[in-house]
Amino acid sequence: MNYEAVIGLEIHVELNTESKMFCGCSARVFGEKPNTHTCPVCLGMPGSLPVVNEKAIECTAKIGLALNSKIASFTKFDRKNYFYPDMPKDYQISQYDLPICEGGCVDVEIAGLAPEGSDPRGYVRRVGITRVHLEEDTGKLIHIGESGRIGGAEYSLVDFNRAGVPLVEIVTEPDIRTPDEAKAFVQKLKNIIEHLGVSDCDMEKGFFRCDANVSLRPLGTEELGTKSEVKNMNSFRAIQRALAYEIERQGELLGAGERVIQETRHWDAAKNVTMSLRSKEEAHDYRYFPEPDLVPMELSRNWVEELKASLPELPNARKKRFIEDYGLTLYDAEFLTSSKTVGDYFEECAKDYPDVKKISNWIMGELTMHLNAVNLKIDESAVTPRHLVQLIKLIDEGAISGKMAKDIFKEMFETGKLPGIIIEEKGLVQISNEKEIDKIVDMVLEENQKAIEEYRSGKDRAFGFLIGQIMRLTKGRANPQLVNDVLRKKLS
Ligand code: ADP
Ligand code: MG
Ligand code: ZN
Repeated sequence: MNYEAVIGLEIHVELNTESKMFCGCSARVFGEKPNTHTCPVCLGMPGSLPVVNEKAIECTAKIGLALNSKIASFTKFDRKNYFYPDMPKDYQISQYDLPICEGGCVDVEIAGLAPEGSDPRGYVRRVGITRVHLEEDTGKLIHIGESGRIGGAEYSLVDFNRAGVPLVEIVTEPDIRTPDEAKAFVQKLKNIIEHLGVSDCDMEKGFFRCDANVSLRPLGTEELGTKSEVKNMNSFRAIQRALAYEIERQGELLGAGERVIQETRHWDAAKNVTMSLRSKEEAHDYRYFPEPDLVPMELSRNWVEELKASLPELPNARKKRFIEDYGLTLYDAEFLTSSKTVGDYFEECAKDYPDVKKISNWIMGELTMHLNAVNLKIDESAVTPRHLVQLIKLIDEGAISGKMAKDIFKEMFETGKLPGIIIEEKGLVQISNEKEIDKIVDMVLEENQKAIEEYRSGKDRAFGFLIGQIMRLTKGRANPQLVNDVLRKKLS
């Protein structure tokens, strides 16, 4: 039987507000000394009372607006009861039946091969948004012992700095069909949230976390199959690979006439497998009830309208502007708006240099290649927009050749030195003086009589060989166009 995968995602986003969700403690706790950003409220001391962080409500509504959700007129917080040592209160303040945002959708452009019947050049997958709600993050447990996991740990340490940091949960409809679509959706969502500026979205730091629900069903049927939920994926690639693994695992079970059991599974990136964490039988009954220490909230339509009008430019609009204002191709515009920092880098360059096609070529080519090789992000690059623009201008002026520029780029990337400095230090100025080139060409010709004969007997390869000799002699500094012209003239 042919099966189709059905995927729905739950994404948790830590907001970058100054203070925590229900107290005045700093919410910027990553990397801080454990348990230094806590107070009676976020430690769950008896008698302490929470106060809502208005900014966090605003950030959540902004996310909803960007995802085409409906912003609630009336919303409240609820207690989600469970016992776990990372939760000092033994309940988490979350939202149950009246989230801040409901409904919505995101259109995701999927490159490459589409499922049967769609356009092979790529297609758009519309992913429905079920809800966007606000809650508080938990503390962090560090398990000490060989396994590094709670099972088998000798003991565990708890850090409550993160407890109470505002956390937004975005839940999608089960509209996603392939691991590629899931990856593309998460990339797009992250991009939108980065543009909103409401979270730092760093996946490695856990500011942006994704859980994936996946099931299979016979192709052409509507009814949902039994799902598993995969956790612990902390990169786009992990999401894609974990889902591919899970689809295959479920496919094998169904193919063998067995059943998929509803459970939570843990992605092990090192082993490339998902492993069972807990089954449905152990699922929690959270006994949700309205949080009695907080009043419900009315979000006025005026406030929502003002918020909507204040939204910054989002990726789709930015892409359109890049095409219309800069004259970039769709391909380039898509690449350059695929993340906020890449778009910002490009625009910083474009401010100082009008030929934007050259800028985009350098960003998409050399810069991306170097960044990927050492796994850095563009805002961590030692080659800043200032470096890049200076380099391109030096090529334009004929001071350096394209080949030299690539070497200089590498040096800039490694040392952060400006191109002018590198050129000076290495004596890398291009030789563009015709007399000087003339002399060098003569020298090379004199030593390579055989190549001259070969060239004259019609062997084009000999020309390339001679160019190579000249470049070797000048350590690549000779102006290539000039060398070409002079050599041809002399040979004929
Ligand atoms: P749960 O009660 O297990 O948390 P929910 O109904 O709240 O499940 O859905 C959680 C996520 O799982 C949503 O993103 C939803 O789209 C997705 N989902 C629900 N049922 C299925 C299914 N059978 N297959 C795949 N995804 C599903
Ligand atoms: Mg759920
Ligand atoms: Zn606190």
